[in-house]
Amino acid sequence: MSCNCGGTCNNDPSGNQNNSRREFLLTGLLATVAVAGCSDAKHPFATEDQVALSGEKVKLLSVNGEVIEIDKAFLKPVPELPHLSNAEERKGMPGKKFVMVIDLARCKNLKKCQSACNHAHQVHPGQNWVKVLGMEDADHTAPYWQPTICMHCDEPPCVKVCPVDATFKRQDGLVLIDSDRCIGCRFCMAACPYSTRVFNWEEPVQTNNAELEKQNPEHHVTVVADQHYSCETSLPQKKGTVGKCDFCPDMTRKGELPHCVSACPNGVFMFGDLNEDSVTNGAETFRFSQLIKDKAGYRLMEDLGTKPRVYYLPPVSRNFPYESGLENENEFDKKNKHK
Ligand code: SF4
Repeated sequence: MSCNCGGTCNNDPSGNQNNSRREFLLTGLLATVAVAGCSDAKHPFATEDQVALSGEKVKLLSVNGEVIEIDKAFLKPVPELPHLSNAEERKGMPGKKFVMVIDLARCKNLKKCQSACNHAHQVHPGQNWVKVLGMEDADHTAPYWQPTICMHCDEPPCVKVCPVDATFKRQDGLVLIDSDRCIGCRFCMAACPYSTRVFNWEEPVQTNNAELEKQNPEHHVTVVADQHYSCETSLPQKKGTVGKCDFCPDMTRKGELPHCVSACPNGVFMFGDLNEDSVTNGAETFRFSQLIKDKAGYRLMEDLGTKPRVYYLPPVSRNFPYESGLENENEFDKKNKHK
C-alpha cells in the first residue's frame, strides 16, 4: 500500500505487512478520538506500551467508515469545555444563526421532549419550558398536538422591556436570560406574545446525577451539583427569577443537539443553522429552505413582527391519530382542554 503523507509517517511504501498492525491501531485510535470528540493536543495517541489493557472491547466507526474493535483502555474521556466568561456567553457563537423546525405531523404528545428538558434544566413539572398543546384550528378541522418553546425571536419584545438587561439577544440568534441579573419583575413574561416564559416560584428541582440517569437513562444529563452558574446551561435555576427554553447552547457548543431534539423518538424537532441552511433531528438531515418551501412551513403570529426562529410544518398526513396522545395527558390537562 502506498503512502501519500509526503514522507512524514513511518509507513513502508513497499507495502511491508509488518506495518498492518500499526495501521490498525492508528485507525482505531483515530476513530476513538473522533468518537470522544476531542483529543489531548500534546499526546493525542497512547501507544500499546503506555496503556494497561482492560480486556474489554468496544466497537467504533473508524475514519475510513469501517467498524473496528479496540480495547476500552484506549478511549479518552472528553475534557470539560473551558468556563466561558459572562461576556462571552452574552456574545454567543460567531458565524451561527440557530433555527428550529417542529413537524406537527409527527407529534403524538409523548412529552419526552418535555421530560428531558425538565430533567436537564431543574424545571418543576408545572413550569415546563416545553409545552405540548392540544390544538384545533376550527370546529370542522381535526385537532393536533403542538409543542411550544421559546421562539428566540429576532425582534424579541421580552428583551426590549427588561429594565436590568437580564434577558438579551446574542449574535447566534439565541435569546437567553442571566439569572444573576434577573430581579423577577416579570415584565418579560407580560411582553412575550407566546407565553413561553415561566416564573420560578420555588427552589429548583434538586436531583443528583444518579437519580437523573435512572429516570432518563438514554439521555445525557448536564446537571452537576454545586455547578457554577452559567447563562448557557441556565443552571442552577434560581427561585424568584424567570426561566424559559434556551435552545441548550451548552449542548450546541459541544456539537450535540438540544435535549428536546434528541429525546423525541418521532423526530418532531429539527435543529440547525440558517447559515448552513440545514436542520437535523439526529436521524435525518434536511436543507432548511427546501423543507420550509416543500412543506409550507410557517411561524406563529408572524404579523406581530417578532420574527421567530421556530418554524412549524403543518399537521397534514399525520403519523398518529390525535387520540393516541390523550393517554399522556394528566387529569388537569384533560379537564381543561378536552371537554
Ligand atoms: Fe422573548 Fe417570547 Fe420571543 Fe422567546 S418567544 S424571544 S420569550 S418574546
